[in-house]
Amino acid sequence: MSENLPPGFETKLVPGRECGTCDVCCVSLTIDEPALQKPQGYRCRNLVPDVGCGVYDSRPQTCRAFYCGWRRLGWVKQELRPDHSRVLVRVQIERPKDGEAPRLGVVFTLLDHRALKAEGLAETVAAAILAGVPTYLGVPGPPGYTAGVARINDVLEHAVMTRDKSAVLAILRKARASGKVGDHVPVVLKHGKATPEPKA
Ligand code: SF4
Ligand code: SF4
Repeated sequence: MSENLPPGFETKLVPGRECGTCDVCCVSLTIDEPALQKPQGYRCRNLVPDVGCGVYDSRPQTCRAFYCGWRRLGWVKQELRPDHSRVLVRVQIERPKDGEAPRLGVVFTLLDHRALKAEGLAETVAAAILAGVPTYLGVPGPPGYTAGVARINDVLEHAVMTRDKSAVLAILRKARASGKVGDHVPVVLKHGKATPEPKA
């Protein structure tokens, strides 16, 4: 779950956007600290229904550092709040091996089938691609397994350049349904054996 961004990539949080009752990252992401181990897809044991984090003041550092792309990036549409849209946008730093400078990328994880109907999804994906941001589609695996991730800049380029929203969504839908978006492998925790809570 650690999302500490390296120097030069810190982003200010978007004014007016608060987590509120959203708890998507407390379910969807892996936390691997001595004090708390949780593979992605399982609810954190500290998550209290309708309340939020039950250990907020002493929550692990990785939780303190994490903010999703909806909180960090103003060009991510307001409608894409993760719990409402079922789209989790994450910032990802690209580190090319050929000596080029690191770049900011984004992963759009479609948490379930409702995500494809989210207002603002196609527009936000298109904005990322038009800006040349490395852009990825994420598809969750079973609880305890990694999400599959695949770069989508090239496959969506024509639909984005022709402003064909229906085609953008159709390509995302087809990719998600294909089962070919990356591999799902068991999450390996470094800090001990997890005792996961039931899936949300
Ligand atoms: S997914 Fe984003 S909006 Fe939701 S709780 Fe996490 S940081 Fe907040
Ligand atoms: S410790 Fe709190 S903030 Fe961290 S994942 Fe669990 S419920 Fe969320």
